[in-house]
Amino acid sequence: MSRESVEPYLSAEIIAARTAELGREITVAGITDQPLVVVCVLKGSVIFFADVVRHIDMPTNLVFLGVASYGASMETSGAVRLTHDLTLDIAGRDVLIVEDIVDTGLTMNYLLRTLGARKPKSLRVCTLLHKPARMRVEVPLDFTGFTIDDVFVVGYGLDYDERYRNLPYIGAMRFQAD
Ligand code: 5GP
Repeated sequence: MSRESVEPYLSAEIIAARTAELGREITVAGITDQPLVVVCVLKGSVIFFADVVRHIDMPTNLVFLGVASYGASMETSGAVRLTHDLTLDIAGRDVLIVEDIVDTGLTMNYLLRTLGARKPKSLRVCTLLHKPARMRVEVPLDFTGFTIDDVFVVGYGLDYDERYRNLPYIGAMRFQAD
């Protein structure tokens, strides 16, 4: 048995400031004739997505994509599957994937291959967090909020066993043996 606790890692204020900057970076980079298709990867990126899209100053279409992710385990299995598909045809469209965290890169690699096969005009990635220490596949990241150490983080949409998503800040999980 072990007891878990959460230590503050990134405050709500720091996240809010960086999210606003990311929205401005996306706006500046985003010359497009049709609304930018912004993809929320459920469930982890839902809170970051809701915040960052409000700082993107251009026409957008907001869409949702579900992928199976971590359960109680903290290790990725490498097997990724769609649990909810987009409700919009992205062929010929400028698309931005919004993710909570790129860890091994396997999920993002899967998303880029799956959405890339639908022939969008462009496909870019915005991730709030990036853990380079654990990368197993190289994936291009166009907009990155924070590069973090090899710690398991929760809060601001990120879960441990479906808990902690509603924390307004990002915390690092600690486990102590009883
Ligand atoms: P990857 O496929 O890059 O290894 O992992 C992507 C997914 O794993 C993320 O979307 C997220 O759901 C989960 N994940 C990876 N690292 C963490 C972490 O530190 N904390 C939490 N809560 N989830 C993580």
